[in-house]
Amino acid sequence: MLKQTEITDFFKRQLQIWPEAAARFTALDNVMTRHFDIDGFPVTISHNPARIQSSAAKVDKASIAARRCFLCDANRPPRQQHIDWRDYRILVNPFPILPEHFTIIAKEHRPQSIKGAIADMTQLAMLMPDFAIFYNGPACGASAPDHFHFQAVRKSALPMFSSDKLPFDIIRLSGEKASQHGVDAALDCLPRDGEESEPKVNIFCSSENGTPEITIIPRRRHRPDFYGEDGMLISPASIDLAGVIVAPRRSDFDSITPEIIKDIYSQLCFSRSEINSFQNDNTAH
Ligand SMILES: [Zn+2]
Repeated sequence: MLKQTEITDFFKRQLQIWPEAAARFTALDNVMTRHFDIDGFPVTISHNPARIQSSAAKVDKASIAARRCFLCDANRPPRQQHIDWRDYRILVNPFPILPEHFTIIAKEHRPQSIKGAIADMTQLAMLMPDFAIFYNGPACGASAPDHFHFQAVRKSALPMFSSDKLPFDIIRLSGEKASQHGVDAALDCLPRDGEESEPKVNIFCSSENGTPEITIIPRRRHRPDFYGEDGMLISPASIDLAGVIVAPRRSDFDSITPEIIKDIYSQLCFSRSEINSFQNDNTAH
Protein backbone atom coordinates (compact mmCIF):
# COMPACT_ATOMS: atom_id res chain seq x y z
CA MET A 1 0.00 0.00 0.00
CA LEU A 2 1.20 3.48 -0.89
CA LYS A 3 2.59 5.45 2.06
CA GLN A 4 2.81 9.18 2.71
CA THR A 5 6.63 8.96 2.91
CA GLU A 6 6.77 7.53 -0.64
CA ILE A 7 4.80 10.54 -1.85
CA THR A 8 6.93 13.11 0.00
CA ASP A 9 10.11 11.32 -1.20
CA PHE A 10 8.75 11.47 -4.76
CA PHE A 11 8.26 15.22 -4.30
CA LYS A 12 11.97 15.66 -3.46
CA ARG A 13 13.13 13.49 -6.38
CA GLN A 14 10.87 15.34 -8.80
CA LEU A 15 12.28 18.75 -7.84
CA GLN A 16 15.86 17.49 -8.20
CA ILE A 17 15.30 16.83 -11.90
CA TRP A 18 12.89 19.67 -12.76
CA PRO A 19 14.58 23.04 -12.15
CA GLU A 20 11.67 25.18 -13.42
CA ALA A 21 9.25 23.63 -10.93
CA ALA A 22 11.88 23.63 -8.17
CA ALA A 23 12.44 27.36 -8.73
CA ARG A 24 8.75 28.08 -8.20
CA PHE A 25 8.74 26.12 -4.93
CA THR A 26 11.87 27.99 -3.79
CA ALA A 27 10.20 31.28 -4.77
CA LEU A 28 7.36 30.48 -2.34
CA ASP A 29 9.78 31.14 0.53
CA ASN A 30 10.02 34.77 -0.60
CA VAL A 31 6.40 35.37 -1.58
CA MET A 32 5.10 38.52 0.12
CA THR A 33 2.29 37.91 2.57
CA ARG A 34 -0.15 40.03 4.58
CA HIS A 35 -2.10 38.71 7.54
CA PHE A 36 -5.60 39.65 8.64
CA ASP A 37 -7.91 38.60 11.44
CA ILE A 38 -11.42 38.23 9.99
CA ASP A 39 -13.61 38.01 13.10
CA GLY A 40 -11.26 35.44 14.62
CA PHE A 41 -10.39 33.61 11.37
CA PRO A 42 -6.73 34.12 10.39
CA VAL A 43 -6.40 34.94 6.67
CA THR A 44 -3.13 35.19 4.74
CA ILE A 45 -2.90 37.13 1.46
CA SER A 46 -0.19 35.61 -0.72
CA HIS A 47 1.31 37.74 -3.53
CA ASN A 48 2.24 34.94 -5.92
CA PRO A 49 2.84 36.31 -9.46
CA ALA A 50 3.36 32.79 -10.92
CA ARG A 51 -0.32 32.07 -10.28
CA ILE A 52 -1.56 34.72 -12.74
CA GLN A 53 -2.30 32.08 -15.39
CA SER A 54 -4.64 30.31 -13.03
CA SER A 55 -6.30 33.42 -11.57
CA ALA A 56 -6.86 34.92 -15.03
CA ALA A 57 -7.78 31.58 -16.64
CA LYS A 58 -10.71 31.56 -19.03
CA VAL A 59 -12.72 28.48 -18.07
CA ASP A 60 -15.73 28.95 -20.33
CA LYS A 61 -16.57 26.02 -22.61
CA ALA A 62 -15.24 27.61 -25.81
CA SER A 63 -11.86 28.55 -24.25
CA ILE A 64 -11.46 25.07 -22.75
CA ALA A 65 -12.33 23.39 -26.07
CA ALA A 66 -9.79 25.57 -27.91
CA ARG A 67 -6.76 24.62 -25.79
CA ARG A 68 -4.83 21.40 -25.35
CA CYS A 69 -5.56 19.77 -21.99
CA PHE A 70 -2.45 20.34 -19.87
CA LEU A 71 -3.24 17.36 -17.63
CA CYS A 72 -3.40 14.69 -20.35
CA ASP A 73 -0.40 12.34 -20.72
CA ALA A 74 0.50 13.61 -24.20
CA ASN A 75 0.66 17.27 -23.13
CA ARG A 76 2.34 17.27 -19.72
CA PRO A 77 5.91 18.61 -19.49
CA PRO A 78 8.51 15.91 -20.33
CA ARG A 79 10.20 16.36 -16.94
CA GLN A 80 7.01 15.82 -14.98
CA GLN A 81 7.00 12.40 -13.33
CA HIS A 82 4.16 10.65 -11.53
CA ILE A 83 3.22 7.92 -9.09
CA ASP A 84 0.47 5.63 -10.32
CA TRP A 85 -2.29 5.06 -7.79
CA ARG A 86 -5.41 3.21 -8.92
CA ASP A 87 -6.99 5.17 -11.77
CA TYR A 88 -4.95 8.25 -10.90
CA ARG A 89 -1.52 9.75 -11.34
CA ILE A 90 -0.04 11.70 -8.44
CA LEU A 91 1.93 14.72 -9.72
CA VAL A 92 3.86 17.60 -8.20
CA ASN A 93 1.97 20.83 -9.00
CA PRO A 94 4.47 22.95 -11.00
CA PHE A 95 2.58 26.18 -10.11
CA PRO A 96 2.37 25.79 -6.33
CA ILE A 97 0.51 27.99 -3.87
CA LEU A 98 1.89 26.18 -0.81
CA PRO A 99 4.94 24.00 -0.05
CA GLU A 100 4.49 20.33 -1.06
CA HIS A 101 1.58 20.95 -3.40
CA PHE A 102 0.34 17.93 -5.35
CA THR A 103 -2.16 17.45 -8.17
CA ILE A 104 -3.83 14.03 -8.36
CA ILE A 105 -5.28 13.53 -11.84
CA ALA A 106 -7.48 10.87 -13.40
CA LYS A 107 -5.55 8.79 -15.96
CA GLU A 108 -8.36 9.36 -18.43
CA HIS A 109 -9.52 12.69 -19.79
CA ARG A 110 -12.96 13.07 -18.18
CA PRO A 111 -14.80 16.08 -16.76
CA GLN A 112 -14.41 17.44 -13.25
CA SER A 113 -17.30 15.88 -11.29
CA ILE A 114 -17.39 14.64 -7.70
CA LYS A 115 -19.83 11.87 -8.59
CA GLY A 116 -18.33 8.52 -7.64
CA ALA A 117 -15.01 10.04 -6.48
CA ILE A 118 -15.51 10.34 -2.70
CA ALA A 119 -14.16 6.88 -1.77
CA ASP A 120 -10.94 7.70 -3.66
CA MET A 121 -10.75 11.02 -1.86
CA THR A 122 -11.19 9.50 1.61
CA GLN A 123 -8.65 6.75 0.87
CA LEU A 124 -6.09 9.31 -0.31
CA ALA A 125 -6.67 11.26 2.90
CA MET A 126 -6.04 8.10 4.94
CA LEU A 127 -2.83 7.41 2.95
CA MET A 128 -1.65 11.01 3.48
CA PRO A 129 -2.74 11.82 7.05
CA ASP A 130 -0.78 15.10 7.24
CA PHE A 131 -2.40 16.40 4.05
CA ALA A 132 -5.78 17.78 3.05
CA ILE A 133 -7.11 16.40 -0.22
CA PHE A 134 -9.32 18.91 -1.98
CA TYR A 135 -11.60 19.30 -4.97
CA ASN A 136 -12.43 22.46 -6.89
CA GLY A 137 -15.76 22.13 -8.66
CA PRO A 138 -15.82 22.85 -12.41
CA ALA A 139 -17.15 26.37 -11.73
CA CYS A 140 -15.34 26.83 -8.41
CA GLY A 141 -11.71 27.40 -9.27
CA ALA A 142 -10.71 24.30 -11.26
CA SER A 143 -8.44 25.53 -14.05
CA ALA A 144 -8.92 22.21 -15.89
CA PRO A 145 -12.70 21.66 -15.57
CA ASP A 146 -12.44 19.13 -18.42
CA HIS A 147 -9.92 16.78 -16.74
CA PHE A 148 -10.78 15.27 -13.37
CA HIS A 149 -8.34 16.09 -10.57
CA PHE A 150 -7.88 16.58 -6.84
CA GLN A 151 -5.08 18.51 -5.16
CA ALA A 152 -3.27 18.03 -1.86
CA VAL A 153 -1.37 20.32 0.50
CA ARG A 154 -0.31 20.01 4.14
CA LYS A 155 -3.18 20.61 6.57
CA SER A 156 -0.87 22.74 8.71
CA ALA A 157 -0.63 25.27 5.82
CA LEU A 158 -4.39 25.93 5.81
CA PRO A 159 -5.93 28.15 8.54
CA MET A 160 -9.27 26.30 8.18
CA PHE A 161 -7.69 23.23 9.80
CA SER A 162 -6.66 25.11 12.93
CA SER A 163 -9.59 27.52 13.36
CA ASP A 164 -13.33 26.95 13.61
CA LYS A 165 -14.15 30.66 13.30
CA LEU A 166 -14.97 30.56 9.60
CA PRO A 167 -16.53 33.70 8.08
CA PHE A 168 -18.98 31.52 6.08
CA ASP A 169 -20.75 28.25 6.60
CA ILE A 170 -19.74 24.71 5.69
CA ILE A 171 -21.19 21.22 5.84
CA ARG A 172 -19.00 18.79 7.77
CA LEU A 173 -19.38 15.02 7.40
CA SER A 174 -17.50 12.65 9.74
CA GLY A 175 -17.30 8.90 10.24
CA GLU A 176 -19.87 6.94 8.25
CA LYS A 177 -21.30 10.14 6.75
CA ALA A 178 -17.93 10.84 5.10
CA SER A 179 -19.02 8.72 2.14
CA GLN A 180 -20.35 9.15 -1.38
CA HIS A 181 -23.85 8.63 -0.01
CA GLY A 182 -23.35 11.31 2.66
CA VAL A 183 -21.93 13.78 0.14
CA ASP A 184 -24.69 13.08 -2.42
CA ALA A 185 -27.34 13.69 0.25
CA ALA A 186 -25.67 16.99 1.24
CA LEU A 187 -25.30 18.14 -2.39
CA ASP A 188 -28.95 17.27 -3.15
CA CYS A 189 -30.05 20.01 -0.72
CA LEU A 190 -27.99 22.73 -2.38
CA PRO A 191 -29.19 25.06 -5.15
CA ARG A 192 -27.76 24.63 -8.63
CA ASP A 193 -28.17 26.40 -11.95
CA GLY A 194 -30.17 24.56 -14.60
CA GLU A 195 -27.27 23.49 -16.80
CA GLU A 196 -24.89 22.57 -13.96
CA SER A 197 -24.05 18.91 -13.36
CA GLU A 198 -23.50 19.54 -9.63
CA PRO A 199 -23.98 22.42 -7.18
CA LYS A 200 -21.08 24.86 -6.85
CA VAL A 201 -18.79 23.48 -4.15
CA ASN A 202 -15.26 23.14 -2.90
CA ILE A 203 -14.66 19.93 -0.94
CA PHE A 204 -11.89 19.02 1.50
CA CYS A 205 -11.13 15.59 2.90
CA SER A 206 -8.68 14.81 5.69
CA SER A 207 -7.88 12.09 8.16
CA GLU A 208 -8.70 13.20 11.72
CA ASN A 209 -7.45 10.72 14.34
CA GLY A 210 -7.63 7.93 11.77
CA THR A 211 -11.17 8.76 10.62
CA PRO A 212 -12.02 10.52 7.36
CA GLU A 213 -13.66 13.93 7.62
CA ILE A 214 -15.22 15.79 4.71
CA THR A 215 -15.79 19.55 4.59
CA ILE A 216 -18.11 20.83 1.87
CA ILE A 217 -18.04 24.59 1.17
CA PRO A 218 -21.21 25.42 -0.78
CA ARG A 219 -20.87 28.44 -3.06
CA ARG A 220 -23.22 30.88 -4.70
CA ARG A 221 -20.84 32.07 -7.41
CA HIS A 222 -17.51 31.48 -9.13
CA ARG A 223 -15.84 34.88 -8.78
CA PRO A 224 -16.61 38.12 -6.86
CA ASP A 225 -18.43 40.84 -8.85
CA PHE A 226 -15.28 43.01 -8.89
CA TYR A 227 -13.26 40.26 -10.61
CA GLY A 228 -11.41 41.41 -13.74
CA GLU A 229 -8.53 43.41 -15.19
CA ASP A 230 -10.12 46.68 -14.04
CA GLY A 231 -11.14 45.29 -10.66
CA MET A 232 -9.18 42.60 -8.83
CA LEU A 233 -7.67 39.44 -10.33
CA ILE A 234 -8.61 37.29 -7.38
CA SER A 235 -10.30 34.03 -8.36
CA PRO A 236 -10.93 32.04 -5.17
CA ALA A 237 -10.73 28.26 -5.10
CA SER A 238 -10.43 25.81 -2.19
CA ILE A 239 -7.16 27.19 -0.79
CA ASP A 240 -8.47 30.79 -0.77
CA LEU A 241 -11.60 29.77 1.15
CA ALA A 242 -9.42 27.78 3.56
CA GLY A 243 -7.65 31.02 4.49
CA VAL A 244 -4.82 31.62 1.97
CA ILE A 245 -6.01 34.14 -0.64
CA VAL A 246 -3.84 34.32 -3.75
CA ALA A 247 -3.24 37.80 -5.21
CA PRO A 248 -1.01 37.42 -8.31
CA ARG A 249 -1.08 41.20 -9.00
CA ARG A 250 0.81 43.55 -6.71
CA SER A 251 -1.90 46.23 -6.86
CA ASP A 252 -4.52 43.78 -5.57
CA PHE A 253 -2.14 42.57 -2.85
CA ASP A 254 -1.52 46.16 -1.70
CA SER A 255 -5.11 47.35 -1.80
CA ILE A 256 -6.94 44.45 -0.15
CA THR A 257 -8.56 45.24 3.21
CA PRO A 258 -10.45 43.20 5.83
CA GLU A 259 -13.69 44.66 4.41
CA ILE A 260 -12.83 43.39 0.92
CA ILE A 261 -11.95 39.94 2.31
CA LYS A 262 -15.31 39.79 4.13
CA ASP A 263 -17.03 40.91 0.94
CA ILE A 264 -15.30 38.13 -1.07
CA TYR A 265 -16.40 35.47 1.41
CA SER A 266 -19.96 36.76 1.66
CA GLN A 267 -20.33 37.08 -2.13
CA LEU A 268 -19.01 33.57 -2.74
CA CYS A 269 -20.29 31.57 0.22
CA PHE A 270 -23.45 31.09 2.27
CA SER A 271 -24.33 31.86 5.90
CA ARG A 272 -25.49 29.31 8.48
CA SER A 273 -29.12 30.39 8.15
CA GLU A 274 -29.01 30.04 4.35
CA ILE A 275 -27.59 26.51 4.51
CA ASN A 276 -30.09 25.59 7.24
CA SER A 277 -32.92 26.79 5.01
CA PHE A 278 -31.66 24.68 2.05
CA GLN A 279 -31.56 21.61 4.28
CA ASN A 280 -34.98 22.31 5.85
CA ASP A 281 -36.59 22.94 2.45
CA ASN A 282 -35.27 19.62 1.30
CA THR A 283 -36.59 17.56 4.23
CA ALA A 284 -39.99 19.29 3.93
CA HIS A 285 -40.50 17.90 0.41
ZN1 LIG B 1 -7.02 15.88 -20.20
